[in-house]
Amino acid sequence: MFRRNPRARTSERSLLAWLGLLLMAVSFIWLQLTAPPRSLTRLELPPPPTAPFAVVVIDPGHGGQDSGTTKSGLVEKELTLDVAHRIERHLQDRGLVTVMTRANDTYVSLADRATIANSQSESVFVSIHFDEAGRSAATGIETYYAAHPVSLPERIASWLPFLQRTSSEPPNIESQSLATFIQESLVANTQATNRGTRPQQFFVIANVHHPAVLVEGGFLTNKDDAVKLANAEYREQMAAGIAQGILQYRDTLLDKHTPLAVDLPSR
Ligand SMILES: [Zn+2]
Repeated sequence: MFRRNPRARTSERSLLAWLGLLLMAVSFIWLQLTAPPRSLTRLELPPPPTAPFAVVVIDPGHGGQDSGTTKSGLVEKELTLDVAHRIERHLQDRGLVTVMTRANDTYVSLADRATIANSQSESVFVSIHFDEAGRSAATGIETYYAAHPVSLPERIASWLPFLQRTSSEPPNIESQSLATFIQESLVANTQATNRGTRPQQFFVIANVHHPAVLVEGGFLTNKDDAVKLANAEYREQMAAGIAQGILQYRDTLLDKHTPLAVDLPSR
């Protein structure tokens, strides 16, 4: 039977003690290296507040050689311009700056309309249209938003793959929210049939890099809608509804920026 000598056992113990200490030190360093950096906790805070937009870009659909829908003695390009000018007055009365993509009966391409909108850094975009349908019974108002904005310019996206916007991008919450405020306010003001808000990749809204919506303010192919739209008072109610919706959306953004409304985590 082998009997260890006591001295060897002592040095074995101290070696084990050192090894234990070393293991603790390594574990400590390992934990420090693998723990999430402190800056990550900052990412969980709400984004820093930015002042809400001061500019509204109003886009009267069609114009010039493009008349849009022509039915029941009504011409879409004329109705859109009329309602746009009315919205402009309402918003200016409330101190907002307005930019029209066209201020008279001229043709402006969809790309140019988007470019005008994108040249305004802090803005929202509202395009005005009127609808037509094969079914004359189709009636009411609906507001569209682009669920996924079109990608950043190719020159950036091509060499920075992580910047490419794909269909996996989160939905366009701001545009959807603006569409909801406008739709609710429009329906309340006009008592029109509420067709709701809908996502649709219309070029003119999908290519605007700010909250952007497109209002279809009634069907020229529907007798009741056409009679109402021929009435300037009704168009004034529409314009007031759209302006109110924009202002309510802006008020909501303002509310979010008051310190009390900012929901900071307690840690
Ligand atoms: Zn149209």
